[in-house]
Amino acid sequence: MRAMILEAQREPLKLVDIPEPVPGPEQVLIQVNACGVCRTDLHIVDGDLTEPKLPLVLGHQIAGVVVGLGPGAEGFAVGDRVGVPWLGWTDGECRYCTSGRENLCDNARFTGYDIDGGFAELAVADHRFCFPIPDGFTDLQAAPLLCAGLIGYRSLRLAGDAERLGLYGFGASAHIVCQVAKHQGRRVYAFTKPGDEEGQAFAREVGADWAGGSDERPPEQLDAAIVFAPVGPLMIDALKVSAKGARIVSAGIHMSDIPSFPYVELWGERSLISVANLTREDGREFLELAPQVPVRTEVTEYSLERANEALDDIRSSKLVGAAVLSIESPTAKRS
Ligand SMILES: [Zn+2]
Ligand SMILES: [Zn+2]
Repeated sequence: MRAMILEAQREPLKLVDIPEPVPGPEQVLIQVNACGVCRTDLHIVDGDLTEPKLPLVLGHQIAGVVVGLGPGAEGFAVGDRVGVPWLGWTDGECRYCTSGRENLCDNARFTGYDIDGGFAELAVADHRFCFPIPDGFTDLQAAPLLCAGLIGYRSLRLAGDAERLGLYGFGASAHIVCQVAKHQGRRVYAFTKPGDEEGQAFAREVGADWAGGSDERPPEQLDAAIVFAPVGPLMIDALKVSAKGARIVSAGIHMSDIPSFPYVELWGERSLISVANLTREDGREFLELAPQVPVRTEVTEYSLERANEALDDIRSSKLVGAAVLSIESPTAKRS
């Protein structure tokens, strides 16, 4: 099969032909129709995350169809639509798993990091960590729900019941969270790079009550903020425009250093918190909610062999909405 693989960090992905994966115990074989490209993929390529399997097939927002079943893979049937997220496997027995916090599992394995992912025509995944794709979403539209949407949703949950929500960095994740937050009746304030008028217009288009630069003050204080951009100083910018009790949530897996700041900024029971990974419960809840909103994902489509271009566009924030690889499978052509 064709796959875009990472042979070494800080090098572009290479288009190669590799053997088709064979589903092992509890695994389904998936014909990948679409795979979202995430900032985390960029952190893996750039070496910010230091322990990927190599060579590696990236991609942890897989939308496709089940074309084969390994021993014991009972959750899905051949022909079912299936989505694969970042959380690929947990041990089920560590202190985190046994206390409802499998997102923090000591031995977790992640799709497109420890396990080959979806920048390929086929992928295998443990059926217990896959989700059915909700009706009403094409594979292309569904792919960004699986990380941008899901991690965004977990971040929103950790933001608490904030009435006035700030979103810093208006990319794939924020454009989904904005729609969910508006559906929940919150007021949403979107912050982009100063001067990014296109990004600000996009934020207003998907429902933000106000959009401006990250150096601007919103019209009212925030009760919570989610920081999607991997820029540590934004945590403090958000803190400075937030009310007492506010929670500032970092949604990314990697961020530049957070500068030191006077304690008075944190005083008043304000808190800074990070979000790590997802639980399967997050996935079930969010994928049930998404069609009710209904979430509309804005997608920029790339072919499999243009994966490096998609990564570059995320790096340079050139992109509006979410980058998704659209993958034409030879399996589909055969049948
Ligand atoms: Zn565990
Ligand atoms: Zn991701």
